[in-house]
Amino acid sequence: LSRSISRAMQQMNNTTVVDEKVLNDCLNEISRALLQADVQFSMVRDMQTNIKKIVNLDDIAAGHNKRRIIQQAIFNELCKMLDPGKPLFTPMKGKSSVIMFVGLQGSGKTTTCTKYAYYHQKKGWRPALVCADTFRAGAFDQLKQNATKAKIPFYGSYMESDPVKIAGEGVERFKKEDYDLIIVDTSGRHKQEAALFEEMRQVAEITKPDLVIFVMDSSIGQAAFDQAQAFKQSVSVGAVIITKMDGHAKGGGSLSAVAATKSPVIFIGTGEHMDEFEVFDVESFVRRLLGLRDWSGFMDKIHEVVPADQQPELVQKLSERTFTFRLMYELLQNLMKMGPVGQMLSAFGAEVMPKGQEKESQAKFKRYMTIMDSMTDAELDSTNPKLMNESRIIRIARGSGRTVQDVMEMIQLYKMFAKNLSKTMKGLKVPKKGGMNARSQS
Ligand code: GDP
Ligand code: MG
Repeated sequence: LSRSISRAMQQMNNTTVVDEKVLNDCLNEISRALLQADVQFSMVRDMQTNIKKIVNLDDIAAGHNKRRIIQQAIFNELCKMLDPGKPLFTPMKGKSSVIMFVGLQGSGKTTTCTKYAYYHQKKGWRPALVCADTFRAGAFDQLKQNATKAKIPFYGSYMESDPVKIAGEGVERFKKEDYDLIIVDTSGRHKQEAALFEEMRQVAEITKPDLVIFVMDSSIGQAAFDQAQAFKQSVSVGAVIITKMDGHAKGGGSLSAVAATKSPVIFIGTGEHMDEFEVFDVESFVRRLLGLRDWSGFMDKIHEVVPADQQPELVQKLSERTFTFRLMYELLQNLMKMGPVGQMLSAFGAEVMPKGQEKESQAKFKRYMTIMDSMTDAELDSTNPKLMNESRIIRIARGSGRTVQDVMEMIQLYKMFAKNLSKTMKGLKVPKKGGMNARSQS
């Protein structure tokens, strides 16, 4: 999906005259890609219509960057599709809230329950887990193991076969003990069956959840809408969590799940471990969907294209999460030389260095470097763009013979790099220092 979308975006970038036809071609190609990614036909059609309404090419004053405006409109529209515009239930510390997890077997409910509990525990909550899955053998053991590892209280039974009874007892007990997040893990079936939905309805009836979270495997594809809708029809789903986003799936089904449940995606699962869990960020998700800046696999890319002896230093710098202006200077320098780091960064999409626009990009980077040459050392070694106030920006512009607009653009690029890098590095397992030093010394 992302490849064909970014191809569409790139085609747009390469065309100097943007007219109705270009807009249509681009929309068609993106729509095809979205359909391939199992986004519902009607949603794709709505997006097309809305984009055409928003982007009135005649209205855009000459001199403005039309391509940028179209790109922005598509981006915004996809973001809007992921925003159900409905307030999300937010639990309160010190007050018992019941959170019920639903989803098909294997979607990642049990894993996600623990991740959710662990995430909140770290933030000072008192979570507790109830295992209401009596369908699958070993379900209680799995939850018990997870909970014990995270030191989270749990409730369940090997003997009792009635999930409704266990759910009711567990919630009652933890309410009495004043836990503020009482998380109910439920069973799933391989297929959407009447018995499953009836069970969910009954568990919800006895536990009276404040929030029902629908857990969906990112790779289920075309089935997303129906599956989400089926759960929504039996229990009142209020939020969605997408799992296995560490796999190949881009998670296009999220759009369907949001549409079907009219609920927001709140977290994504990015691995089997307890802490491989992230707050869902609409914008970075859409960016990834569009292939604009796909920073996933960043580390693999480093290993692939950066010569081994240069890796430790680069990784070290990036992993310190102190992405200074000076480091950006170095990265741009590499981009200019089209060295390995340059190739690596350009692999992260049209935004940084669109294919076919290398010349323009290089000129731009050169401009930014000239600008940075007029910055003070303190500014270069800082990670705080606010250090440069209005008068400093004007002086830097004057000193470098560039416009204030150019300076602002450079700062904008810095912010984008910094944001994405820190996010990426947070989720990466950086090679151990010892190993890296050993290699760099050899
Ligand atoms: P349940 O049947 O819905 O309770 O699903 P489980 O929690 O038992 O998960 C099913 C499988 O998916 C297990 O092997 C999990 O380790 C795995 N899993 C769950 N979430 C993720 C995730 O975000 N990434 C990956 N890679 N695996 C996951
Ligand atoms: Mg389970």
